[in-house]
Amino acid sequence: TNKMLQVNDLHVAFSTYGGEVQAVRGVTFDLYEGETLAIVGESGCGKSVTVNAIMGLIPQPPGRISNGRVEFKGKNLTKLNKKELRKIQGVDISMIFQDPMTALNPTLTIGEQLMEGLRTHKKISKSGAKEKAIEMLNLVGIPNPEERLKQYPHQFSGGMRQRIVIAIALICEPELLIADEPTTALDVTIQAQILELFDEIQEKTGVSIILITHDLGVVAKIADRIAVMYAGKLIEIGTKREIFYSPQHPYTRGLLNSVPRLDLKEEELLPIEGTPPDLFAPPVACPFTARCPFAMDVCERVYPGTTNLSENHAVDCWLQDERAKAAFA
Ligand code: SF4
Ligand code: MG
Repeated sequence: TNKMLQVNDLHVAFSTYGGEVQAVRGVTFDLYEGETLAIVGESGCGKSVTVNAIMGLIPQPPGRISNGRVEFKGKNLTKLNKKELRKIQGVDISMIFQDPMTALNPTLTIGEQLMEGLRTHKKISKSGAKEKAIEMLNLVGIPNPEERLKQYPHQFSGGMRQRIVIAIALICEPELLIADEPTTALDVTIQAQILELFDEIQEKTGVSIILITHDLGVVAKIADRIAVMYAGKLIEIGTKREIFYSPQHPYTRGLLNSVPRLDLKEEELLPIEGTPPDLFAPPVACPFTARCPFAMDVCERVYPGTTNLSENHAVDCWLQDERAKAAFA
């Protein structure tokens, strides 16, 4: 499978009154064509900042991409100017957010909103755009699309609105869809339907998906691979099977202990005692040290390197490091 996106040693910082916050501290991963990669972790771990950096949505200042590359179709997205980014945003890469209501304009019809992006970015006639809009509403499972095009957002339910947002995101046929907590604002039955929709869309269009979520139930349903973030670092990545059945980082193991309790919300989902470190002055060493039941002296002094456990499975933890293993042997 081909790599469609390569994120390499990404660092993002934000200056605030209290000093500079190191929100993302050296994140590296690849995305393959046609796959769904889930990025999971507590709020504040850097998952949203990571995808916003990919999408060119870091406000600079106060934000700053202090290091790293985001390679997409032979271009480093972190180096593009606003005009070049606009050619990619919504066309090659689309993003959808948590709350469908804020993503839609209440004063425009659904048809107008669907066709707007298309006509800005592609040379297409009005009737061609309408045809495409109808096709998209069909794709996302909205009945009577011809009629529905003339209606306004308030005439749709929350779940239908999120379907419309997805249709708008897909209308220019992007290669990459980034979804940041796309089902969090919806009730549970609707959540399941939207997740199924993601699966269907991927099957029909082949789009690659990066899904940000704190909900491991969501991940279990639709991810191919899972990346786990903690305190601005990507601490473990692997296939869904590897992460669910053979997690190696103590933080990932802790997270998975909460899987049976899918009814819990983000804050309550924390099975591990303690809090993540302060990212004003992030530790040079393993950020999980203070909460880790296996912490060793070396963990407090030096950040562990990345150990590759299989073709897809990699972990940043001294417990897996060959040198640490040799020292114990
Ligand atoms: Fe725990 Fe050390 Fe591994 Fe960090 S590196 S997770 S402190 S064992
Ligand atoms: Mg977030």
